[in-house]
Amino acid sequence: MVRTRIAPSPTGFPHIGTIYQALFDYGYAKKNAGQFIVRIEDTDRLRLVAGAEEKIYQSLDWFGLTEDESRRKGGDYGPYRQSERLKIYQSRALELIKNGYAYYCFCSKERLEEVRKRRAQEKKIPMYDKYCRALSAEDVQEKLSSGLTRVVRMKVPENTAIKVRDEIRGEIVFDSNTVDDQVLLKSDGFPTYHLAVVVDDHLMKITHAVRGEEWISSTPKHFLLYDFFGWERPLFFHTSLLRNPDRYKLSKRHGHTNVAWYQEQGFLPEAILNYLALMGWSHPQGKEIFSKEEFIGLLELKNMKAVAPVFDIHKLEWMNGEYIRNLEAGSLKSQLVRFIGKNYDEKLVEKTIPLVRERMKKLVDYMPLCSFFFETPTGYEIDLSAKKDIFVKMKEELNKLNDWKAEPIGEAMLVLAKRLNVKNSEFFMSLRVAITGKKISPPLNESMEILGKKDCLTRIGRVIAAGP
Ligand code: GLU
Repeated sequence: MVRTRIAPSPTGFPHIGTIYQALFDYGYAKKNAGQFIVRIEDTDRLRLVAGAEEKIYQSLDWFGLTEDESRRKGGDYGPYRQSERLKIYQSRALELIKNGYAYYCFCSKERLEEVRKRRAQEKKIPMYDKYCRALSAEDVQEKLSSGLTRVVRMKVPENTAIKVRDEIRGEIVFDSNTVDDQVLLKSDGFPTYHLAVVVDDHLMKITHAVRGEEWISSTPKHFLLYDFFGWERPLFFHTSLLRNPDRYKLSKRHGHTNVAWYQEQGFLPEAILNYLALMGWSHPQGKEIFSKEEFIGLLELKNMKAVAPVFDIHKLEWMNGEYIRNLEAGSLKSQLVRFIGKNYDEKLVEKTIPLVRERMKKLVDYMPLCSFFFETPTGYEIDLSAKKDIFVKMKEELNKLNDWKAEPIGEAMLVLAKRLNVKNSEFFMSLRVAITGKKISPPLNESMEILGKKDCLTRIGRVIAAGP
C-alpha cells in the first residue's frame, strides 16, 4: 500500500514549494490507490503562525489535492499534529538511550557557544564536541537527579561512511565525522524535526517520502535513526529547489512563494499544477500541457530528474492564458465569478467571456477589460465634447434598429459614418469611448449587443447631455 505525506510546518502562508511536493505525493498515492497524508510539523513553537494550518488545508482543496488523512479528515494513524504526539517521541528517545544510541547532554548555552566559537576559529564545521557522550553512568545519574537542564542527542558512530539513498540521485555517501550528534529531544520535551520525522514516517507507515533537497544533508541522521530503531525506511525522493530564471532560489525576495499571491492574481489551479508538474519531471511525449489526471496516470517518482528547475513566472502566465482559452466555458465562468466576487451578474459574466477569453492571461485581467459591462463609465479617455452632433445622429440611427445584434449595429454605424463623411477609425473610436469609457476595449459591436439597446442609447445620451 503506497502512503505518501506532506509535512508542512505551520509557520506562515502555504508555500508554492509545498504544493509542488504535494502534487507528486498526491499523484503517486492516487496512481497506486494509496493514501496521501498531511502531518503538521508544529514542534518549532516560536515560529507558529495562527491560522496557518487552516490555510494549508484550504490551499490543498483549491488545488484539488485534498488529502485522505489528516487532523481534519481523521485516520487510523493520528494524532496528525506533532505537538499532540510528545509522549511518543519522549518514549522513543528513552528507548534510544537505553539501547546505547543516544545520550543526555547537559551542556549550557554558554558552553555550546564557546564550542561554536572555538570551532569557527579553527575553521572546523560547526558541530557539538561530544563532551557529554563521555560522561560516566554515575555522572549522568547525578546530573539527572539534581534536575539539570538536559537534551537528548543521537550518538553518531565515528569514522564510518554513512550511505544514504535518494531515489532520484542514487547513493550519497557521508563521512560520519561530519555528521553532528543531533539534538533529538529538546529541554522542553519537544522533539526536533529529525526525531519526529523518523518516528512519524514509521508509525504512519509512510512508504514514499517526497521532500525538498534542502533535507538531503539531514538524511544521514535519519538513516541512522532508522537503523537504531531497527525499522525499514521509506523511499526518499528529494525534489530540486525551484529557482528563478536568474538562478536564485525562489523566495520571498526573489519571486513569489505565497500561494495566496497566485490566487489573488487569478492563476488557475489547473495551470499552476501543470506548470509545477514540469519542474523535475517531463511528459514522456514531451507535451507541455496536460491534465492532472493524465499526469497521475504517467507519474513514476523514480523518473524525476535532479535538475535545477526554473520557475519562470512569464512561462506560467503563458500557460495560464492557454488554460483560460481552453477551459470549458462553465468552469471558466464559475472560476471568474469566484474571483471577481458574487455581486456580479453571472449571466452577464458568461456572455462576456467569449469576447475577452483570448486577451486574458490571468483572471485579474478580466475587470480592466470588462468593468464597463457592469457600470456606466464615469470618465472618458478622450474628450468627446466636440462630437456631440455625431452622437445625436448615432443615437437616432441606433434607435431605429429593431434587430439589436452585433452585425446590424456595425452595418448601421458604417453607413452613418460614410453619410457623415467621418473616417471609420475616428467614428468608431468615439463610439467606443462613449460606450466603454476606454480607447481599448473588447469588440465594440458585440459589446453593444450584450449591453442592450436601452443601455447603449443611455450611454450615448449621457455624452450628448454632458457640458459644455
Ligand atoms: N517540516 C518540514 C518542512 O516543512 C518537512 C520536511 C519533510 O517533508 O520531511 O520542510
